[in-house]
Amino acid sequence: MAPVRKGRNHIGDIVIIPVRCFTCGKIIGDVYEQYNVRKKIYDETVKAGEKPKETPKEILDDLGVSRYCCRRMILTHVDLIGEAAHFE
Ligand SMILES: [Zn+2]
Repeated sequence: MAPVRKGRNHIGDIVIIPVRCFTCGKIIGDVYEQYNVRKKIYDETVKAGEKPKETPKEILDDLGVSRYCCRRMILTHVDLIGEAAHFE
C-alpha cells in the first residue's frame, strides 16, 4: 500500500504557499491571505447572483501582483495545510 501523503508534497513536507515567486523571487506569501479573503467575497457575491465589487483580476492588480509568474503562484496554489494540520 502506498504511504499516506495527504496534505504533503512528494518529499513529505507540509504544503503551504511559497513565500517567494519561484520565477522572479518577488515576495507573494503575504499577499495570499488577503487575496483569499477578497476572492471569497467575490465567490459569494457571484453565487448570490449579484455583480461583484471587484474581480479576481482586479484583486491581484490592487495587491500589486502584476507579473504573470507571480499571479500563477497565487492562482494555482492548492491549500492543503488544513488537511495536514489534523495529523500534526
Ligand atoms: Zn514572479
